[in-house]
Amino acid sequence: MTDATTDALIIGAGMSGLYQLYRLRELGVRALVLEAGTGVGGTWYWNRYPGARFDSESYTYGYSFSPELLEEWNWSEHFAGQPETLRYINHVADKFDLRRDIRFRSRVTAAHYDAAARCWNVTLQDGSRYRARFLITAIGPLSAPTMPRIAGVETFRGEAWHTGQWPHEPVDFAGKRVAVIGTGASGVQTIQEVAKTAGHLTVFQRRPNWCAPLHNSPIDAAEMAKIRASYPEIFRRCDETFACFLHTPDPRGTFEVDAAEREAFFEKLYASPGFGIWQGNFRDILTDRTANEAISAFVAKKIRQRVKDPAVADKLIPKDHGFGTRRVPLETRYYEVYNQPNVALVDITETPIERITAEGIRTSAADYPFDIIIYATGFDAITGSFDRIDIRGLDGQRLKDRWKGGPQTFLGVQVEGFPNMLMLMGPHTALGNIPRSIEYNVEWVTGLIRHMRERDLTVVDARPEAVAAWTDHVKAVGAGLLSNEVNSWFTGINSNVEGKQTRIVARYSGSAPAYRARCDEVAAGGYRELAFA
Ligand code: NAP
Repeated sequence: MTDATTDALIIGAGMSGLYQLYRLRELGVRALVLEAGTGVGGTWYWNRYPGARFDSESYTYGYSFSPELLEEWNWSEHFAGQPETLRYINHVADKFDLRRDIRFRSRVTAAHYDAAARCWNVTLQDGSRYRARFLITAIGPLSAPTMPRIAGVETFRGEAWHTGQWPHEPVDFAGKRVAVIGTGASGVQTIQEVAKTAGHLTVFQRRPNWCAPLHNSPIDAAEMAKIRASYPEIFRRCDETFACFLHTPDPRGTFEVDAAEREAFFEKLYASPGFGIWQGNFRDILTDRTANEAISAFVAKKIRQRVKDPAVADKLIPKDHGFGTRRVPLETRYYEVYNQPNVALVDITETPIERITAEGIRTSAADYPFDIIIYATGFDAITGSFDRIDIRGLDGQRLKDRWKGGPQTFLGVQVEGFPNMLMLMGPHTALGNIPRSIEYNVEWVTGLIRHMRERDLTVVDARPEAVAAWTDHVKAVGAGLLSNEVNSWFTGINSNVEGKQTRIVARYSGSAPAYRARCDEVAAGGYRELAFA
């Protein structure tokens, strides 16, 4: 048992935890990162499933803070695969000598605030204890994997993996009978990759998603040199766009152009790499029902063109939500997979899964034997990683209780009654192209800690009125978005988690520039919304 004391404990060695460590060190603050895994990388450490890769352009995803890092790192593809991203994050950890302040195999199970000592007491799964003035959560919005609530999951005798807890050893699909449950972004990437080698692949789909082509391509040395030369412009653009992607909505409304021009624009977007069709479409596709129907009809037509069997195509077209109202999975020949003789689609709204058996999966219609079952069933998003830690603030108040019915935060960084707990990428922060948001979030938190050190302040808490105002603002800013009327992790729904069947507002859905402007204003005003001691 250790009882180690430091200035700041950071939970998680993903993109945000690593950068926070770097910035705190620079400030002369002693910090220690507690990481559950055996290596750095967070999302990219855990999600090593076949086909995992960026949906953001690689060169918009990397850290922007170090000119030297930008100078020396070469991306090999416009949308890099997970192994390359993990290599990149490891390179960052080595370059800045971050590992000496990271404890691996350190899963935090509890964090309790001690008001008398003005410290957080943190306990790990193995019983070791740490203590620090600041508790910084860098635990990610999509890091608590959820298995489906289906009877018999533990009885299956073959191999079974969740995409978010993929093994480090390669899984061989050649000649095997493979099942994938789930058709979100992880399922889509997995399916299109596994279909290449599996003897037979059966996809169990509950609700289809609207997917669009990724159009990935390699980057050669000459192109990388050009990208490098344009980094200032790339990051400036990401700073200005709604969600920190290169893409930004077209100022025109869908019906401000004639049918031919509309179709041509949709075609252009469908043929372009990345999230343009989602983030760079007509300005009203995510708010206006008729506009949304137009783009949905366009993408449905594409699915029908790409899938040979019209009955299968029909099953792959979402009926209960419009295009872009849930996270759009980007794909590479995903729809064509369903034309392969070794792939079958089972619509489990027609024939529900009854149970997992020792041999495979039993639906209401048949028994399917499998060698491997892949659960691409997603995450207890945004608040799930917090719920898994016993976090208690003043007077032993539990964060989980405090957030029943939806999170309440100030700027997504602080929760009243949980002094000195600072959240990176917590609920109510701008997410989008996440490393861009991470860098801002970390810099803001670092600025706050600097402010306190310069004034010998040892406690910071959010004022109740500031929390109420920000929470109301987050709710108001999401009004009118079609995505907030749809069940998905965006709205806090997870059918596999008790108590997560009611929609909540857990996500800030305003623009990233507006979020940053508000945070800058708070800092420039001397943090009047926070109470210090
Ligand atoms: P997800 O989008 O939540 O998808 C989970 C899938 O599993 C859904 O199709 C869901 O069906 C299905 N499912 C869940 N429980 C089930 C059950 N009990 N029985 C049958 N089906 C069940 O999760 P995800 O695909 O892991 O993606 C989560 C997020 O991670 C993405 O939206 C994205 O933000 C991020 N991500 C990013 C990348 C990337 O950038 N390249 C890649 C992967 C993931 P329903 O739709 O009916 O609920």
